[in-house]
Amino acid sequence: MAYGKMKEFLQNELKTVKQAGLFKEERYILGPQAADINVEYPAGAKPQEVLNFCANNYLGLSSHPEVMKASREGLDKWGFGMSSVRFICGTQDLHKTLEKKIAQFLGTDDAILYSSCMDANAGLFEALFTKEDAIITDKLNHASIIDGIRLCKVPKERRKIVNHADMADLEAKLKEVRDGGARFVVIATDGVFSMDGDIAKLDQICPLAEKYDALVMIDDSHSTGFMGKTGRGTHEYRGVMGKIDIITTTFGKAMGGASGGCTAARQEIVDMLRQRSRPYLFSNSLCPVVAAATVRVIDILSATTERRDKLEENTRHFRKAMTDAGFGIVPGDHPIVPIMLYNAKLAQDMSRDLYFEGIYVIGFFYPVVPKGQARIRVQLSAGQEREQVDKAIAAFTKIGKKYDILGKTKDEIIEKYGL
Ligand SMILES: *Cc1c(COP(=O)(O)O)cnc(C)c1O
Repeated sequence: MAYGKMKEFLQNELKTVKQAGLFKEERYILGPQAADINVEYPAGAKPQEVLNFCANNYLGLSSHPEVMKASREGLDKWGFGMSSVRFICGTQDLHKTLEKKIAQFLGTDDAILYSSCMDANAGLFEALFTKEDAIITDKLNHASIIDGIRLCKVPKERRKIVNHADMADLEAKLKEVRDGGARFVVIATDGVFSMDGDIAKLDQICPLAEKYDALVMIDDSHSTGFMGKTGRGTHEYRGVMGKIDIITTTFGKAMGGASGGCTAARQEIVDMLRQRSRPYLFSNSLCPVVAAATVRVIDILSATTERRDKLEENTRHFRKAMTDAGFGIVPGDHPIVPIMLYNAKLAQDMSRDLYFEGIYVIGFFYPVVPKGQARIRVQLSAGQEREQVDKAIAAFTKIGKKYDILGKTKDEIIEKYGL
């Protein structure tokens, strides 16, 4: 009965998580992902219509009729499954088409598909960097970058964690690894950091990379499809297209939102990943249905900027109206809008009240964000109409009044609610 002991241990652990108020519950959506959804929450309760302000469905393409049509056509033409990894018999012309299109869209030589961006990051560093090399990584990078770095053979002393967005620290770390005689150096950063919606300072990172002879890798999962004037990503937004050596990204957010990801990079890097990258070698690629729909998404986004323009307009409107209403929000341009509340219980209570006002948002608190920085994270979408955004603003204002936080400073909110 080996499990007897473990069972007791796990039960106690789970109880501790629950008592700390950190237990994550799922809310069931009864239908397609969209701006307005029917949700059963709590489990077993009567379903309720709510407006969704917490999806990564930035361009409203998750249930877009054209995207769904392309996936049905994909099913008819290419079948359902591949029953093989790419290098045995799991590559269709469709996969090559998608790789060419995403590389062209992102402005890189080539691209290699993965079944997720998590896999793209997991299979990146180990395949390219080894004992003599160095990796410099932002402190707030996504878990999948952290895990990818953990899997590679770059030694601890040449894995440098840089204070978030701190260019002086970045330069100091570059100097250290260069003085230490590192062979290849790569700077790894999220394009957009998902908790604050802030954007990597690529316009400063790239010149530093050049000065210290380092490569630049970005994970643009929260940008591909909508950041920058034509939606190519943070490299377009920061004016450094062509200067980024490696871009990893997901198709599971703005790009239709199903699943899949890729590494788009310089030719030899992609070629080598096809030889050495373990998630690529040992795991199936995207299924044809998803690949076909993602091809259509790229076609739609290449033809018109209408959707990213609408997202930008919704974001601008929401950010301004919420600031005018007296909320403290982290400033910026990104459709991730953190409404700062500092206190974890306040964030949780307000998000619950908002749910019953028909607005689906989630409170984030420790350990997802640092202690004392609890917030509600709102995400805008091109799938939302102006009146839906206005409904959210009205609901926030009503609940903000109830908790008496409108126009209050950080210190005043902390004084009232504690940390
Ligand atoms: C969402 C996200 C991922 C994971 O993407 P999947 O394709 O769902 O695995 C990776 N990196 C970043 C920065 C993300 O935001």
